[in-house]
Amino acid sequence: NSSEKSQMTNAHMLLQKFYHHLLLNTKEGQHAYDYLTSRDFTDDTIKKFGIGYSLNSWDFALKFLTKRGFKESLLEKAGLLIEKEEKFEYFDRFRDRIMFPIYDHKGNLIAFSGRVLGKGEPKYLNSPETIIFNKSQVLYNFHQARSHIRKEQKVILFEGFADVIAADRAGVFHSIATMGTSLTDDQARIIRRNVENVTICYDGDNAGVEAAFRAANLLTKHGCTIRIATLPDGLDPDDYIRKKGPESFKDDVLGASLTFMAFKLKYFRKGKDLNDEGVKMNYIDSVLQEISYLHNAVERDHYLRQLSSEFSLSLEALKEQLQKFSKKNS
Ligand code: ATP
Ligand code: MN
Ligand code: MN
Ligand code: MN
Repeated sequence: NSSEKSQMTNAHMLLQKFYHHLLLNTKEGQHAYDYLTSRDFTDDTIKKFGIGYSLNSWDFALKFLTKRGFKESLLEKAGLLIEKEEKFEYFDRFRDRIMFPIYDHKGNLIAFSGRVLGKGEPKYLNSPETIIFNKSQVLYNFHQARSHIRKEQKVILFEGFADVIAADRAGVFHSIATMGTSLTDDQARIIRRNVENVTICYDGDNAGVEAAFRAANLLTKHGCTIRIATLPDGLDPDDYIRKKGPESFKDDVLGASLTFMAFKLKYFRKGKDLNDEGVKMNYIDSVLQEISYLHNAVERDHYLRQLSSEFSLSLEALKEQLQKFSKKNS
């Protein structure tokens, strides 16, 4: 019910303020602050994103919140405490972690994600699903990015919180991320309600490329126009910004983003020897297949001409072949 929900949000807010204070102002939080500094987090970004530190303690949040009148069972339901098996005894879920508060699109604090300092498993520990936190409907930083998304008429979608924060530091404020899972239908719907143009900027590894493909397909289905910004293999946007700087990120990564179609063409030919006749024919077929899905006649014409000139094929032959794919689609 609604009073339970608001109590849960209140518990999160009180705890977030204290975690934030621990990180910025205390000896106990110093090593966490140093860790963030080593990753180029500034005080401004720590404040803007409300980042904090959870003490290395089994009962800090427990005591802090029960002292303020919250029931243990409610805090367990909110995901902040874990119950020892069958014992009605509780302990803190988040211990010795960098705490990222998670807000819904209205700006209500509904969950945390806690990162280990340095190496360790799990790297990010999220709040469990609760009556206030439905992971598949939350987009990280959406509440702060929304006005920028509206103004710029576009949004940049990242894989990780750290990427959103680095992008924000680089002045790219219309940045959001999923919660470490693939983009869902609900999230795609929320995005489309606010904006048509989405630039996907996922990690520069195979998993990132695959995930970008899936997200692009899903967003296209929901009516978005997609661009895909790719990174050198092994780097994610946060790594890139720290290594090459904000200007290079804006110019050479975002500025060099490809349309979904151009990205597909690049992807289809990756690692292929197009001098081999068979490989070449296969490639041309895959491209024609993709062209057959395009609704826009001008776009279809553009890519047909491109194919025609690259492989010295007549437009007529390509169009004839395209007919076959178009028939199969209908
Ligand atoms: P960092 O830069 O801090 O290492 P990252 O964002 O680069 O983080 P990735 O390994 O690229 O981390 O994962 C992308 C996203 O997936 C993270 O931001 C987080 O939301 C989620 N994630 C990563 N590891 C886990 C995990 N063990 N459990 C739950 N979610 C995770
Ligand atoms: Mn990754
Ligand atoms: Mn990453
Ligand atoms: Mn990273």
